[in-house]
Amino acid sequence: MLSRTRTFAIQGVDAVPVDVEIDIHRGLPSFSLVGLPDAAVRESRERVRAAIVNSGFDFPLTRITASLAPADLRKAGPGFDLAIAAAILRASKQVEGPELEGWWFAGELALDGSVRGLSGVLAMAERAARAEPGEPSGIAAAAANFGEAGLVGGLRIAALRRLTDLRDLAKGVLPPEPVLPGPRVVDRGLPDLADLRGQGPLRYALEVAAAGGHGLLVVGPPGAGKSLAARRLPSLLPPLTSAEAIEVTKIASIAGRPPRDGTLAARPFRAPHHTISAAGLVGGGSPPRPGEITLAHRGVLFLDELGEFTRASLEALRQPLEEGRVTISRAHGSITLPAGFQVCAAANPCPCGHGAGAQRCRCRPDQVRAYSARLSGALADRFDISLAVEQPTAAELADDDGESSEEVAVRVALARERQANRLGPGRVNATMSEPELAEHARPDAAGAEALREGHERMGLSGRGWNRVLKVARTVADLEGTADIGARHIDLALSLRRRRGEDQ
Ligand SMILES: [Zn+2]
Repeated sequence: MLSRTRTFAIQGVDAVPVDVEIDIHRGLPSFSLVGLPDAAVRESRERVRAAIVNSGFDFPLTRITASLAPADLRKAGPGFDLAIAAAILRASKQVEGPELEGWWFAGELALDGSVRGLSGVLAMAERAARAEPGEPSGIAAAAANFGEAGLVGGLRIAALRRLTDLRDLAKGVLPPEPVLPGPRVVDRGLPDLADLRGQGPLRYALEVAAAGGHGLLVVGPPGAGKSLAARRLPSLLPPLTSAEAIEVTKIASIAGRPPRDGTLAARPFRAPHHTISAAGLVGGGSPPRPGEITLAHRGVLFLDELGEFTRASLEALRQPLEEGRVTISRAHGSITLPAGFQVCAAANPCPCGHGAGAQRCRCRPDQVRAYSARLSGALADRFDISLAVEQPTAAELADDDGESSEEVAVRVALARERQANRLGPGRVNATMSEPELAEHARPDAAGAEALREGHERMGLSGRGWNRVLKVARTVADLEGTADIGARHIDLALSLRRRRGEDQ
């Protein structure tokens, strides 16, 4: 006897349909599983057997073959349990009814027969909502995943608590829906810029970086608020659109951080440790898993202690920074994952952290030189803004009453609107090509003079020159000014470190 159910495997950030076929035939009792299963999928046999027996069904004492197709797709995790159990119950005629044809099955089984939630259900629901002819039109998932599946509108969802709920489903009866706390909302609670006290230039650098999508490097001693500042960058960016929020939530769920009760994720902030491997950063493995840059998609990737990351890791960031996505090669073809993130980095000014020239610095000159060289080699051309900061003094901390993120975000949103009108939807100044730069970021006479002076004073390279113009364009956009004048150039120059510290 043969039966088939349908489920999904996660590949990268997408759900791919998988057919589960069960063949039950005479012979010594056995249960084999074919179709590139990993260890967790193979263990599925034990969970499925126990869940079937403990739910009061009979486990067929015959030869059972379960086949997962397509066979060349590597299957991982416990997510196939429910589909396998449903197919066995159908093949052994313990649960029957054409209604079951109408569902995708996605759930893990506990030994007692209860249905457990999975990661990646939003991606599955999204794929289910795009049903092709002949495919099921609803998804039967764990009640724990009901809110997440519901983030995709217009999809039939069956919330299963126990394997025995399949009996209802076969009769066309939906198990009761869990009660959700409220309508879907975007998660709040991003840290606020108001907490960053006594750091005027750093606050301004954050605002400009947020407005123009510029890479931001902050160099300064420990305690100068570098990491505190970086964590506040997402709160300055415009709110995610509904489609973007679904995309971000889907990726978070696949990475094992399912949304709470149907709540959409906020802009991500990812801060991987500098010991991370290149694969951990950009993604990889089999089946391919998203790396930190995909988890940071539509948000901020923060590289603390930039000089300590391996060269290989930083080089791996180049292509994604350029293209907003990453391509991972595999044995069979390659897979492309989204990776449109804004990069922010922090570094100490010297190995000891106090800064060469400071009294407390104990670094030898050659150590300082080697450290600077490593820093300026590390993706330096990706940071339009590179700011040196100091620890704020007690007086600075006391008299600062900085604006909140909400206030600054209003200016950022207006500046981004001007950029989108000029460059196209979603485009920001950081992405301007050389021709666009020539067209849209030409300074007026006084601005050109200020740039020449700055060039002499700071020894800007050609690329450094272009970066100043891009940042000056953003400074003017924040002020709502069409022309780039001396004031905008000077402000942009103030967001660059001096020669020797910079390339
Ligand atoms: Zn030092």
